Amino acid sequence: MTEEIAQDCPVCLEYSAYWGDPGQMIQANCPRCGEFEFSGQARALLTQEYDEVEDGKMRLGPKGSRKRANASGWIREHSGTIIYGDRVAPLASHDTPKPLERANKLLRTLGASEATETGEVNINTPEYYGRTWVKDRREITDIAKILSDQGFIEIGQQTIGPTGLVPVRITAAGWTRLEKLRSIEDNQRQLDLPLEDILEIGESGSIEFKSSLRFNLKSEKNDPKIEMAVLKTIAGFLNVNGGTLLIGVTDDGRPLGIEVDGFESEDRAQQHLINLMRDKIGLEQVLNVRVSFEQIDDHRVMVVRCSPAASEVWVRAGGNEQFFIRAGNTTNELSPSKAAKYISGRFDH
Ligand SMILES: [Zn+2]
Repeated sequence: MTEEIAQDCPVCLEYSAYWGDPGQMIQANCPRCGEFEFSGQARALLTQEYDEVEDGKMRLGPKGSRKRANASGWIREHSGTIIYGDRVAPLASHDTPKPLERANKLLRTLGASEATETGEVNINTPEYYGRTWVKDRREITDIAKILSDQGFIEIGQQTIGPTGLVPVRITAAGWTRLEKLRSIEDNQRQLDLPLEDILEIGESGSIEFKSSLRFNLKSEKNDPKIEMAVLKTIAGFLNVNGGTLLIGVTDDGRPLGIEVDGFESEDRAQQHLINLMRDKIGLEQVLNVRVSFEQIDDHRVMVVRCSPAASEVWVRAGGNEQFFIRAGNTTNELSPSKAAKYISGRFDH
């Protein structure tokens, strides 16, 4: 028999979560973080409030911390995830998505709600906090304001207090924007989107920006680490659903141009990328990648469109091989055992 009990969620600490007792793993269903499981050891670590303790391991910090908001947001996007003790430190080290990215998350969540089709929706709720990675009412109101300033939503009459209503409604322009966001998630349709739209919407699961192909803007030298970052992104796309890499664009979507890499010509830049792929990933994968150059303002941007690969892609680095997947907005390396598991599920052999 599973027993239902109400307790504070060990991640966000603020709301009641209900769980049964199936042995040592505890199942949570938090209104903010959604459904996940955690071990007793993870719970002990999660509920510690210190940012960093003597063992040097990161913790989530006190109730209401930025790290707790990020952890909650990440769990919301990975429904059903299992958190063991050794996953607490990674959970505490997620980067905060940029405001524009969180605004897009808010618009997507609104678009998925049936209530939005007919009228106003209150976004000052635990579920909206989780889905937009925000800490509190002030932050979700700031995120909503980004969308309302752009004319994508209208904010209705609010009521006061931390749990007061913040009602919003999607405008016609907002539905158009949502359609573009969905196109970006759908890799096939994404290929038809103009580059201006991609730059405006920003990085996502299938879009990544890199400032350069080989030139390190900080050290002002060509740098193999910069090349490796490009290859990891490409491998991550190939191993999952494909995606588009723009080279010559800053993190926040500002075109810098492939000029910074100092190639003699665009042909040379393209050949350089193909050589890197041949050496580090394997020549056969070049077939899954289309390279073009497009004009944005006064700059030329290198566009690398990657189709999903038919077999797994490893990146050779030093004497080792590494396996990457694109998950959310980041490219993650998998351990050999996790890579083997992922490969057997994703690729036919
Ligand atoms: Zn929670």
